[in-house]
Amino acid sequence: MAQQAILDALRGLKTENPGLGVKRLVVKLREQQPGMEVGTKEVREALSALEAECEATAAAAPPTAHGEEEDEKRCWICLEGEANGPLVQMCACRGTAKWSHKACVDDWRRKSDKEDAAYRCGQCKDRYRDALSLELLSARLQAKRTNDEDTILTLDTLASELQAQGKYDEAEPLYREALEVSRETQGERHPETLTLINSLGSLLQDKGDLAAAEPLYREALEVSYDTLGWSHPDTLLVISNLSMLLRAKGDLAAAEPLCRAVLFVRREFLGNRHPDTLSSINILGALLHTKGKYDEAEPLLREAVEMSRETLGSRHPDTLQNINNLGVLLKIKGDLCVLLEAQGKYDEAEALHREAVEVSRETLGNRHPDTLTFIRNLGEVLEARRATPGQSAS
Ligand SMILES: [Zn+2]
Ligand SMILES: [Zn+2]
Repeated sequence: MAQQAILDALRGLKTENPGLGVKRLVVKLREQQPGMEVGTKEVREALSALEAECEATAAAAPPTAHGEEEDEKRCWICLEGEANGPLVQMCACRGTAKWSHKACVDDWRRKSDKEDAAYRCGQCKDRYRDALSLELLSARLQAKRTNDEDTILTLDTLASELQAQGKYDEAEPLYREALEVSRETQGERHPETLTLINSLGSLLQDKGDLAAAEPLYREALEVSYDTLGWSHPDTLLVISNLSMLLRAKGDLAAAEPLCRAVLFVRREFLGNRHPDTLSSINILGALLHTKGKYDEAEPLLREAVEMSRETLGSRHPDTLQNINNLGVLLKIKGDLCVLLEAQGKYDEAEALHREAVEVSRETLGNRHPDTLTFIRNLGEVLEARRATPGQSAS
């Protein structure tokens, strides 16, 4: 393949995913153009050519005129541009569905007949996580109660939306109500009852009430095991949740075999790139990190971050969780490493944390518990960095 063609393909890739490293770029290029003979050497050369090109362009054109009129942004609903108001990215969709006016999307959400339009994009399934989601779902619940219709699904959806927005106290009574109704009307061993037991458990765990969450997981696990078998996705989800709870309790010895079993089955049945597999890689990585097994944890966490960036896109909250864990690990490695080595690791840790804080603010909001955790972790890295002699904030 000619050098010019590699250059053109790379230009597109770097615009889409500015964070991709050389190795990933090679893989992507080979995916895009099967049969293409391209290695790290060619990509490195093309990257330096691109850099030179950028510098030349920046020198030639005044910075304000650059990048403004790249492609015409249009709202996918009304098809108008910025003249009708600012265009925003409401979800993770790319291409023609990337930009919209918030008012257009909100109007569509209010009028749509689709069950999930109230709270998430039907295409990419990214949740809007906003006040309108809660308003529309609450109104739906109200209407179902008034008409004496089945409320389990709406209770569950509204509760999980509240949970996703960090409003745990408001979510709890809704999950409890849904679970109670499901136990009564569908039975103790019904799949939906099981799902609700697990959901309530995970909410209580998010709230930090581990003692209340554990018996729920154990109940769900016992029934799941009996009715679905141990390798069923629902059973694996419960095992995975229980492993995180045990880890949070400090019982690492009990948590580790559960994490390993779930990861093994998911790699086997779902493949290495499935979001559930990624979540498992991340959980095991974080556990090994807690146990001090850094050498085993780091490749797992790096695998999780890299795969997440590719499959979920950098705005997805799951990616953030992974970036956060990797950042924490890097900070600890930085604490332990000798001075020169540590300098490089701190840079990487700080960059990852800044990315996590920025994207988290954008997607979850400034007051979400996860955002606050990311901000706290960034503070810790900066603190550790200051406390290490010879570190310079380059
Ligand atoms: Zn519009
Ligand atoms: Zn979307």
